[in-house]
Amino acid sequence: MKQTEYQLICGMEVHAELKTKSKMFCGCKNDPFHASKPNCYTCPTCLGLPGALPVANSTAIEWTIKLGLALNCRINLFSKFDRKHYFYPDLPKGYQISQYDLPFCYDGYLETSAGKVRIHRIHLEEDTGKLLHKTVHNQKVSLVDFNRSGVPLIEIVTEPDIKSAAQAKEYAKTLRGILRELHIADCDMEQGGMRLEANISLQAVGTKELPNYKIELKNINSFRFLEQAINYEIERQSQVLQNGEQLNQETRGWNAVQNKTFLQRTKEEAEDYRYFPDPDLPPIRLSTNQIEIIKQNLPELPLERAKRWMSNYHLQPEFATRLSEDTKHAQQLDSLFKLAVNKKFEPSKLANQIVNKKITVNYQNLEATLEEFESLNATATVDDNDLEKIIRQVLAEHQDAVNRYHAGQKQVLSFFMGQVMKNLKVKADPQQVRSTLHKYLDN
Ligand SMILES: [Zn+2]
Repeated sequence: MKQTEYQLICGMEVHAELKTKSKMFCGCKNDPFHASKPNCYTCPTCLGLPGALPVANSTAIEWTIKLGLALNCRINLFSKFDRKHYFYPDLPKGYQISQYDLPFCYDGYLETSAGKVRIHRIHLEEDTGKLLHKTVHNQKVSLVDFNRSGVPLIEIVTEPDIKSAAQAKEYAKTLRGILRELHIADCDMEQGGMRLEANISLQAVGTKELPNYKIELKNINSFRFLEQAINYEIERQSQVLQNGEQLNQETRGWNAVQNKTFLQRTKEEAEDYRYFPDPDLPPIRLSTNQIEIIKQNLPELPLERAKRWMSNYHLQPEFATRLSEDTKHAQQLDSLFKLAVNKKFEPSKLANQIVNKKITVNYQNLEATLEEFESLNATATVDDNDLEKIIRQVLAEHQDAVNRYHAGQKQVLSFFMGQVMKNLKVKADPQQVRSTLHKYLDN
């Protein structure tokens, strides 16, 4: 039977907790990972007690818009919070305050090396409490810690533009870099400060028909697992489709021990959350002026920095990208490259050797770093007479190559370069060797 080829269709949903001082709708401390005990940062609002009134955290709103602008989004000048209803023990109100049809940001994009990934929307909501499953007095119990209840949570939703597992990983990593650069989220993946979700289906190559199913990969807490899980799903779904079978809507998780995805639940119908505007929270109106001010205060993002280093310092794209991700040392690296230029060193070579760990940057002492670079790349000036002697010898031994050079095969020069360098006892300056070679060959 003829093998059908399939193309991945994938969109992502990423949740990240904002690191504001207080929670989204109350004054409780927002620090769930460092709390000394469960339920110490709670109040009637984040415990969902009747009559408690939420007040929106304006910093969280500003930061959401900041992210939206960094991701080239359009900003809704009028937006609102909605109630999303469902029942779960970690959600004391019986609904989550989220945003439904008027999110703060929409229609943006993030660039990856495999193309743009369009951002469908970014909205702001509140996180839920955390369930702890324990055994107390020989009884299995579920405990709830509400320290996380009401922590501001942003959700970034893409269009299904992701075409490979590698691109999904790059997208998620770049997004984390931006969130950190903006100083709005720590994105501690292990603690759940950033959570990844991928919606995956396969389309037969050559058809325009969109797949009629979607597999949701949920609660992925590492970039590596994300890539592995998507690749696993491509393989698994191809097999099922190849056998002429149907794939259904379902949610799957990743088992990192067995290296495979597993079924969590099937979805028969779309869930009905009965969204409606939260009557306790007034809608939010923003002016273009407010948005303009946020825009002007955006820092340089890793991708922009990589581009600037490529054009100003001629860094190769892969090294520029790798180094630009180091948000913490961005300024020092910038100074280092500037210093290198002043000393007539090649920043591109320096960047290459930093990424390849030939040089360790001393951030306290950039001069020392350049000294290390200098000694690593030190070349000796060879006595002209010695050099010419060796060149004459090499040319005499390879008369045929000399003829080819004169016949127009200029690339033979690199062969001569190699031969001369090999015969020299010291590490010579290639420029000196090249120009002396030219003197002999071109006259
Ligand atoms: Zn509270």
